[in-house]
Amino acid sequence: MGDLREMLHRVADLIADYRETLPDQHVAPSLGRAAVRESLARELPDGPASLASVVDELVSRAMPGLMASAGPRYFGFVIGGSPDAAVAADLLTVGWDQCAYNEALSPAALAFEDVAGTWLKELLGLPASASVGFTTGGQGANTVGLAAGRWKVLEQVGWDVGRDGLGGAPRVRVVAGAERHATIDRSLRLLGLGESAITEIPALANGAMDTDALQVVLRRQPDMPTIVSAQAGNVNTGACDDLNAVTSAAAEVGAWVHVDGAFGLWAAANPGTKHLVAGIGAADSWACDGHKWLNVPYDSGFAFCAHPDVHAIAMEYTASYLTGQVAGRMFGGGDFVPESSRRARGFATWAALLALGRFGVADLIERSCALARYAAMLLERLDDVEVVNEVVLNQILVRVGDAELTSSVEQLIQADGTCWLGATTWRGERLLRISVSNWSTTERDIELTVDAVGRAQAEAVALRAEESTR
Ligand SMILES: *Cc1c(COP(=O)(O)O)cnc(C)c1O
Repeated sequence: MGDLREMLHRVADLIADYRETLPDQHVAPSLGRAAVRESLARELPDGPASLASVVDELVSRAMPGLMASAGPRYFGFVIGGSPDAAVAADLLTVGWDQCAYNEALSPAALAFEDVAGTWLKELLGLPASASVGFTTGGQGANTVGLAAGRWKVLEQVGWDVGRDGLGGAPRVRVVAGAERHATIDRSLRLLGLGESAITEIPALANGAMDTDALQVVLRRQPDMPTIVSAQAGNVNTGACDDLNAVTSAAAEVGAWVHVDGAFGLWAAANPGTKHLVAGIGAADSWACDGHKWLNVPYDSGFAFCAHPDVHAIAMEYTASYLTGQVAGRMFGGGDFVPESSRRARGFATWAALLALGRFGVADLIERSCALARYAAMLLERLDDVEVVNEVVLNQILVRVGDAELTSSVEQLIQADGTCWLGATTWRGERLLRISVSNWSTTERDIELTVDAVGRAQAEAVALRAEESTR
């Protein structure tokens, strides 16, 4: 055991060193996938290697290919960092190596999920009686919520999808906004509903669902088994669907409402943004991420359901066909997710919530939004740079030129290494996208980033002028 103790101390130092220098690191990795693989490539050895040599090789080969996405100037996609308490809890989780399937395997893993789940529901404005499954992320949570909806809307027309599957089942309609996240479509493919189940509702200018159109569509076929898939937090603009309008339109026809709130659901935890998700509590299922805005280390997501019996019947395997026999059993762990053996994700989430407290969570959300507005203001001051969206949350869309110039600016920014941000297509136009989601980002980081954007834009314009004179 002496070896392990010594090695864990060394590993702790390596992790601490890495994290301390995150703010100063070149954000993009110095090597790409192929180069890292080449540096590793060799025959699988016949014999064993010492603990020290394994760790040495891992560290030296992996580090050049690490993205400093846990640092304060990573603004790509929607990526959180990892605050100290959550990192410590996750390290313990690995050391304890618990299987969080059920109470028999780990009472602690289940109990921490229970308490973290209760806190999450309170922060996110969800019913206290809702069930919670700890998933790998938003994709997993969307799949769980839509599976519960699928079970329920088919049960309402007398079809048991758990027993009889989808062959010969009444058609299920999934009504979703045109700017839904791509994970919704994948979930529907996985669930056997298929992409053709989607009735697409046009989006408003900000990307939110046009709820007048939703009402018309729902009223047209009020008796069809229907799931409405709404969204809180569009990945491009941050826009949230009007959930009061969505849930009341759905209630008229008895449709199930699922809310994909991978990051946007966190708006509910902050008094300054709560109004964006008003009506949230009246939905039937919700998906949310821990690893995005709560900044829990990867991977961490939450599937909530207002109907725990439906949630359990749709997911667990001991009684999926025994409707009505689930009452009285204490569900949790593997009953609310598609996996059986699974990582104990409750520890890190619980630690993050305890370390932040209610006000800390609100402050994290508020600060990210304020920094996003600050970035938008500074970007607008740059020549030939324009912010395209109304910055309602933490997402910013930036116009720097045509598609070719945008791609050139994007590459120059990433190569410069001050920060990392990517591009997206919004309404047919290539734009830079900035997501402010990291707990450690400061005003100074925003200023450095805006400077980097300005430099890259000027350089891209100069490069183009040079090329055209050649
Ligand atoms: C990120 C995201 C997802 C997918 O979540 P993962 O955690 O990557 O699985 C789904 N929906 C929205 C709106 C997202 O932003």
